[in-house]
Amino acid sequence: MKVVGLTIQPLRIPFVERFQHSLKDRAASDTVVVRVQLEDGTYGYGEGLPRPYVTGETVETLVTHVSEQLWPALVDQKIFGDELLANLSELIPTSTDDGPVRAHNSARCAVEVAVVDAVLRSRAMGLHDLLPPTADSLTYSGVITAGDLESVARRARQLMRVGLSHIKVKVGLEDTVERIAAIRKELGPDSVLRIDANAAWTVDQAAEVLQALEPYNVASCEEPLAPQSWSDLAELRQRVSTPLIADESLVTASDAQQLVAHEAIDLFNIRLSKCGGIGPCLELAAYAREHGLGYQVGAHVGETALLSAVGRHFAAHLGDARFVEGSYGTLLLTEDLSRTSLRFGHQGKGTLLKGPGLGVDILEERLEGYAVGRLEFSA
Ligand SMILES: [Mg+2]
Repeated sequence: MKVVGLTIQPLRIPFVERFQHSLKDRAASDTVVVRVQLEDGTYGYGEGLPRPYVTGETVETLVTHVSEQLWPALVDQKIFGDELLANLSELIPTSTDDGPVRAHNSARCAVEVAVVDAVLRSRAMGLHDLLPPTADSLTYSGVITAGDLESVARRARQLMRVGLSHIKVKVGLEDTVERIAAIRKELGPDSVLRIDANAAWTVDQAAEVLQALEPYNVASCEEPLAPQSWSDLAELRQRVSTPLIADESLVTASDAQQLVAHEAIDLFNIRLSKCGGIGPCLELAAYAREHGLGYQVGAHVGETALLSAVGRHFAAHLGDARFVEGSYGTLLLTEDLSRTSLRFGHQGKGTLLKGPGLGVDILEERLEGYAVGRLEFSA
């Protein structure tokens, strides 16, 4: 099987409401959809979300990397359906960089997922065949973003009403303790509450806040310090009892090795676009297990149904992710790209996907409607 065509379409889908955290504030999702065509005419779709504050990528670097590196590496190459992920790891390996882009991971994710979707469809198979599920369903987390104390408390009540029991709160430099106290009061004692500082703190600030948060039973703290500050993270881990999760600090395989070597972390936040696609994410999960670490399956704000579907299969395949995020669909986006919604249901429940390819039907006219550019290649 050969890839004979590839289309790159950057999209801008407006958010339902403005999404804020300490590293970024935006009104629309910047995501990029890649479509590949196989020689038998089958199409497949993939998605990547280039985030300058995570991998250093932008929409422009993604487009350039796909155009100049990934498409030439794939076109007219024989793709073997039986060893699909290993085959793609050879043809389009993850690539790191010393420049402003740390890793071209969202570019690789978009292309890898598109080829996987196409090849599976061409063989009348689904991603569940490649990644057999080991769980019957998934429990997704709700997220509480920035806002005044009254609005975060209101948001906590909303999440309780829809039965969510895993809640992540974005925190920053100000009023973290009051914020968590107000939210914990609304949630009651049973909800699993965790925080994400998005690299906001120094070691001393983080230690102080996490100690002050002890009465509120915070299950984990994500990315407390500046990314890739391995020794500081290791020091913080010695000073606090709250489990620490690496997010922006876990982009490449080398990051994973540093985190382990420094004994700096308790869990990995594995996100498909951030970490380079399905193959590299499976390797990160295996590496975490091997070293006695846990993981959560995370998502990028603004993902469409394409990456929600891949995340669903991936998390169901692992079966033991501590937390699962994503599948927000039209809770965040004014419209999603799929015919049927992938949004999680009551109590955050996500059912398994069974259809061909990624298990999601993309509405081509809707994709065109939100596209802000288009680049096409053919063999
Ligand atoms: Mg995070």
